[in-house]
Parts: sequence; C-alpha cells; structure tokens
Amino acid sequence: MKGRKLLMIPGPIEFEPEVLQAMGQATTSHIAPKFIEVFGNSLELMREVWQSPSGQPFIVAGTGTLAMDMAAANLIEHGDNALVISSGYFGHRFKDILDRYGANTTILEAPIGEVVSLDAIENELRSKPYKVLTLTHVDTSTGILIDPKPIADLAKKYHVLSILDGVCSVAGEELKQDEWGIDVVLTASQKAIGVPPGLALLMASQKAMGVFKNRKTPVGNYYADWNNWLPIMQAYEERRPSYFGTPAVNLIVALETSLKIICTEGMDKRIQRHQNLAKAFRAGIAALKLRILPKTTHLAAHTLSAVYYPKGIDGAALRAKITEKNVILAGGLLAGIKSSYFRIGHMGSVSSNDLMAVLHALECALLALGHPIASGKSLQAFQNELLNTVPLNPVTN
Ligand code: PMP
Repeated sequence: MKGRKLLMIPGPIEFEPEVLQAMGQATTSHIAPKFIEVFGNSLELMREVWQSPSGQPFIVAGTGTLAMDMAAANLIEHGDNALVISSGYFGHRFKDILDRYGANTTILEAPIGEVVSLDAIENELRSKPYKVLTLTHVDTSTGILIDPKPIADLAKKYHVLSILDGVCSVAGEELKQDEWGIDVVLTASQKAIGVPPGLALLMASQKAMGVFKNRKTPVGNYYADWNNWLPIMQAYEERRPSYFGTPAVNLIVALETSLKIICTEGMDKRIQRHQNLAKAFRAGIAALKLRILPKTTHLAAHTLSAVYYPKGIDGAALRAKITEKNVILAGGLLAGIKSSYFRIGHMGSVSSNDLMAVLHALECALLALGHPIASGKSLQAFQNELLNTVPLNPVTN
C-alpha cells in the first residue's frame, strides 16, 4: 500500500492479516462454547511453542510486565533471596518487581554489550541460598541474547528456581523449556508471538507450581494470584465454563490464530528464519560500517538489532529521515547511552522484503544527512548473505 508505514520496532510488530481479522470478529461471551474451545486450544498450542509438554500455561489480560509481576508475586515470599542476571534495562525492571514483594535481590550485570559470565553466576549462587534467579533471554534495550541453558543447569545444581523473561524471544529464539529445565518462561503478545498488545503469557513448570502451592504466606497481589487463575486455566483446558476476571476475548481469538500460524510454520523452521534474516540484516549493517551494541555477533539477538549511530550523525534527524521513507524504527532505551543508538525489530512475521525496506530507508537517510556511504552496499551484503545462508532454499521469508 503506497504510503503505508512499516512498523519495524521491537514490539508491537507487524501482524499477520489473518490475526487482525480474527481479532476483528464479533466479541462473544467468554463462556460461549466456541470461545471455550479457542481458549483451550491456545493453552495447548502454547505448550508446543514453549516446548513444554509438562508446563502449566497462563493467559491473562495485561502486558509483559504483568507476566514478570505474576512470576514474582507467586514465587517470592518476604525475605527470599533472588538473583537477577541482567543484560540491560529489563533486568533492572525485574529487580524492582522482586524487591516490591520483599525479596533480597542481588543483581549481576555485565558491561554494556557483554553478558555475565557463568563463573560469576556460580560464585554468587555458592555464596548464599537463593530461591529464584531471573534472566532475560533477549534484552530489548541492548539486543543481547543470552544462552539460558547453562544458567538453567546452574540453577538446578544449586536448587534455585529459574525465571526466564522471554518477552523478546519466545517464538523467535530457540527455546526448549522442559529440556532445559527452566521453571518459568514468560512473554507478551505483541512481539514474536504476533498478536496486538494486551496479553501476558506465562508457562510454569510443575516444580514452580509446587513451590507456589507450598507458600507459607498469601500472595501479595490479588489480580496476579495463581490461586485465582489456575482453576480458570484448568477449566478452559477441560473445556468447561468458568470465570475470575473477564478474559480479553478478541485478543485470545487472535492468539489462537497466531499460535496456529506459528505451529504450522514449525518451531525449527521459524527459529531458522529468524536466524537467517538477522544474520543477513547484520551483514547489511556491517557493510555500512555501522557498529552493533553486542560486543560479538554470537551475543546478538535474532529478534532485534541495536545499532550505534555513526559519528557525526544526529540520531533524531536520522530516524526522522527514515520515517519519511515510511519505515518506523525505535530509538535507544538504555540509560546513559540512550541517544547514541537505535533499534530495529525483526521478529514474528518479518520477511526479507521488510528488511530490504529498512536497509533502503537507512541508506537514503544516511545519504540525505551527508554520511559517506556507497549506495546499495547494505542491500548487496544482505542479499549475498541470504544467498549464502540458504543456497538451496528459496523460502527465506
Ligand atoms: N521484558 C522485555 C525483555 C521486554 O522487551 C519488554 C517490553 N519491551 C518487557 C519485559 C515488558 O513488556 P511490556 O512492555 O509488554 O510490559
């Protein structure tokens, strides 16, 4: 559509037309048999996406922050030790939330662009008895991807519950919740799950549910209390009507549609698509001699890229020029360096066409601001990388 703006921020993202159409259907009762079926299917499909056949899924109206809040409210009791492994802005948010429920929270942070070492994590776990640790799979403020598996192994070794903030990773990065033994994996609808903002999604292991059931004190948050929501999730899964708080009917109808699209693509193929496109996009960025925040490419997420503005270029002016080309990107988020970088989301329904449009707009904007680049360079590098990555597979988007 001429003049239509392409939304390439790290959430909300561009949504599949089928998802938006599903959302636009007439709202039904939350206990209509058809809706009960949709809710039940969505819970079952979540297990496939999270790769957690044994997990307890929760679908609640709210945002990703509510999902974080819910994990903390239900698993923390006053005085518990909690360890936050942070790679940016959202690690700090988890610390704030855990503190609010009375946890003694320790935060381990790496320098910008790096990750906390496994040795540092193990030393900390050895130093005192922790109840939970949290980790951010992809921190959306820095574009840093961590490897959750070895951290989950350490959590198991030290009998600590692991909570993964997967808001910017679930359905875009490799995740095997049960196999890796992660106790809670949470996300929000508006990112790689591919549904407009408004749903908090969470999967808890049976171990986490056991710890919750053995609490000595009541949950200090009425809305987030699993005692209220667990019977509702169980009822919908058993296709029975129930009520605690009115579910976001239209969003859940959209969620079922999106989860079906995700599962039809298949998790392995979907993750591979994200990896191929991210790699090619970063080849385009490197061809323009722009630098990404992560220190090495293996720490760079496949769901978004965080890129420093080139020297001498005003960030706001660059983004305004990119918007003139009908592409919307996001500015920086991390305190201290916020104005020195920008972010591009490439998750969910993202295709090579979208990323070519981003590189085109970026090149035009740099040229308009007098930055010396050879036009077409990034597009050529993008194309070459895609051709190299998947030489025999024409379906790259
Ligand atoms: N964690 C991460 C990693 C995020 O990217 C975000 C949202 N950008 C959140 C948590 C919070 O999610 P929400 O904005 O939906 O509350």
